[in-house]
Order: sequence, then C-alpha cells, then structure tokens
Amino acid sequence: MPGLNVRSVLVTGSNRGIGLELVKQLLGKSNPPQWVFATCRDPEGARGQELQNLVSKHPNLVMVKLDAVNPASIEEAARRVEEQLDSLGLNLVINNAGIFSDVSLAMVDSEEMLDAYKTNVVGPLLVGQAFLPLLKKAAQGSSQKGLSCSKAAIVNISSVLGSIERVPEILTKPAISYRCSKAAVNMLTRCQALTYAEDGILCAAVHPGWVQTDMGTQEVGADLPVDKSVQGILAVLPALSEKHSGSFWSWEGKTIPW
Ligand code: NDP
Repeated sequence: MPGLNVRSVLVTGSNRGIGLELVKQLLGKSNPPQWVFATCRDPEGARGQELQNLVSKHPNLVMVKLDAVNPASIEEAARRVEEQLDSLGLNLVINNAGIFSDVSLAMVDSEEMLDAYKTNVVGPLLVGQAFLPLLKKAAQGSSQKGLSCSKAAIVNISSVLGSIERVPEILTKPAISYRCSKAAVNMLTRCQALTYAEDGILCAAVHPGWVQTDMGTQEVGADLPVDKSVQGILAVLPALSEKHSGSFWSWEGKTIPW
C-alpha cells in the first residue's frame, strides 16, 4: 500500500487530542510534508503551547489561527496559508476540530444543538469552501490520475455516533446534539464528494475510534490510545481512491454505514 505522500496538509483543532497527534505523526514521517499547517483558536496563548514547542523544532510546521465557528477567522487562515504556499496548492485538509456533549434527548436544548452544529458541521463546510481554491490548485498541478488524499482531499473527522444505521447498537451514549451534528457532517461529506469530484478532490469521513483524549474520557468508554488511532487514520488515507470518495471509514480501514 503506498504511504501518504503529501506536499502540504492542514489540520483544524490541532493544539490537543487527535489533531495534535496528527500533526506530530505527519512531522515524524520518513517523507514529511513540506508544509504542515496546524490550526487552532489561540496559537499564541497557553492552549497553543505544545504546538509552539513543535514549531521551534520543525521549520515545516506553521501555526495558523482558525476558529471553526468564526467565518472571518477561516477566511483569514486561508489567506495566510495561500501566502505561505506561494502559488502552489494545498493537498489535504483534515477537519478535525469538534465539540462533544453527552446530553440526553430529555435535557438537550436549542443552544446545545446549535453549538454542536456550528462547530461540527458549519466549521467543516466553511473550511471546505475557504480552502477550495487551494485544493483545486493542488489537483490541477498534480500529474496523478484519479482521486487521492496525496493529490487533493478533504477529510472530515466524524464519529460512528453519527451513523443512523448503527444507532440501535450504541444508544447507550445519548449525545443527541453530537450525534445529529456528526450525521450532518456525514451528509456534508457526501455532498462535498459529489460536488468536488469534478475538481479532482476526494472527500471522506473518518471515525477515529473511541480515543483517549480530553473528549474521549474513560467515562464515555474511550479505550484507544491517541497514537494508535492516528497511526490507523494515516494508514487509511493513502488507501482511499476515487471509488472511496464520499464514504465513511473507521480508523481501522473498514467502511461504516451511514
Ligand atoms: P479534544 O476535545 O481532545 O480536542 C478538540 C479539538 O477541537 C481541540 O483542539 C479544540 O481546541 C478544537 N476545537 C473545538 N472547538 C473549536 C473551534 N470552534 N475552532 C477551532 N478548534 C476547535 O477532542 P478529540 O481530539 O478527541 O476529537 C477530535 C475529533 O475527533 C472531533 O471532531 C471529535 O468529534 C472526533 N471524535 C473523537 C472521538 C474520541 O473518542 N475522542 C470519537 C469519535 C470522533 P481548543 O483547545 O481551543 O478547545
């Protein structure tokens, strides 16, 4: 299986959890990207500390401010990345930033629903729109045939909790706002895939497993170390091709039903 061979990659919500580990493992590859754009809400503040430490060791790592619920911040991030790429395209966007709340059907309110939707769905939508010109440029500049994550791709980090077919198996975690938002980002992924295919851009949704992060606590049954989840994700991405665009994958490389 060919490895992920990207010139440039952008990860949202990369100051902790799965996003931070994605950045670390991308930088640690034997063929690291020429540019890794690690975005977070507060690059200069305490929340960006781990990334700041990495920047001092990796000249190919660029921290970029991006708040997934702030359209102006997303547009500004796209301008910043474009400047850095200096007329070349961006190969891979990983929409990882997300919020979770394990709220029940009885307790969930409109604010909770809208917060989850804004971060987990509107964020990836706007990021996809803002970085589309750079993704198109990467696809146009590539000699590779078909679609691939190495050429030009949007990967939305979703969750099996958003799978409508799998609800009966895992209704023990109510997480109503989260489930609905992840079902919606799955729909977004499918629409992005069908729309952006003609621009040479692959789009896929990926479930990272039940991962031990601030979000994935033992309380919610998270048992997968973050390094294993990310190793899995980075092995799945290069295996995706045109026929897989618009589908939903687990970190172990299995398809998940919508
Ligand atoms: P964490 O809670 O550990 O990290 C979440 C990340 O998202 C943080 O970097 C956080 O930044 C960022 N973020 C939240 N809101 C915004 C925003 N408005 N703009 C920019 N960044 C934001 O979560 P995980 O690493 O566990 O989760 C990453 C992704 O994986 C999420 O999409 C999640 O839904 C998904 N996932 C996780 C699972 C798990 O078991 N952990 C299971 C299934 C899916 P800040 O520090 O500023 O808050």
